[in-house]
Amino acid sequence: METPAKKRVTLYDKTFEVMILYEELDRHIQKVAERINRDYADCDTPPIMLGVLNGSFMFMADLLKKLDFGCEVQFIKMSSYDGASSTGKVCELIGLNGSIKGRHVVVVEDIVDTGGSIEHMMKLLAAEGVASAAVATMFFKPDSYSRDYEIKYPVMNIGNEFIVGYGLDYDQLGRNLKDIYVIVDE
Ligand code: 5GP
Ligand code: MG
Repeated sequence: METPAKKRVTLYDKTFEVMILYEELDRHIQKVAERINRDYADCDTPPIMLGVLNGSFMFMADLLKKLDFGCEVQFIKMSSYDGASSTGKVCELIGLNGSIKGRHVVVVEDIVDTGGSIEHMMKLLAAEGVASAAVATMFFKPDSYSRDYEIKYPVMNIGNEFIVGYGLDYDQLGRNLKDIYVIVDE
């Protein structure tokens, strides 16, 4: 029997086919949320869930709904990607509002690839004098990661393929896709 063709989308000049359905993403987020709930149950001050814009907004929304401790939510905006390949440049665009000195912070990322952005973020948080900083990322590319910072809460590990959907973009398109799509070589 023929397997049905995978659903495809075209974003500008590139074609992508579905790789991971939302239901599977959600199941994995649930498992990570349970770990975060256990780890942050007894904090002296409410932890700050710090989303890295733009890509993390969908993951942040789904994760927050599964957390059962009191937490603050903040977002920061940085930039390190230009199209489908990394420019290696990381710049902070929108900063933190107010001091986060002495606070427990969970950085919420869409994807950790080489780790350049996360390294920058962890240095920034250390300079702010946070009590602790951990990383929760929807996707982690372990074969590409080249930094020493622990990625404590990776939801799903993937290879080095370029993906879009669930907040992740190709030249700003595709963020609204509910499922994850992978680029098709043609
Ligand atoms: P890093 O600094 O870890 O190399 O890259 C992190 C950033 O690169 C992510 O926040 C994301 O914006 C972008 N990125 C890395 N891999 C992918 C991918 O497969 N798809 C998309 N859309 N963006 C990616
Ligand atoms: Mg990001």
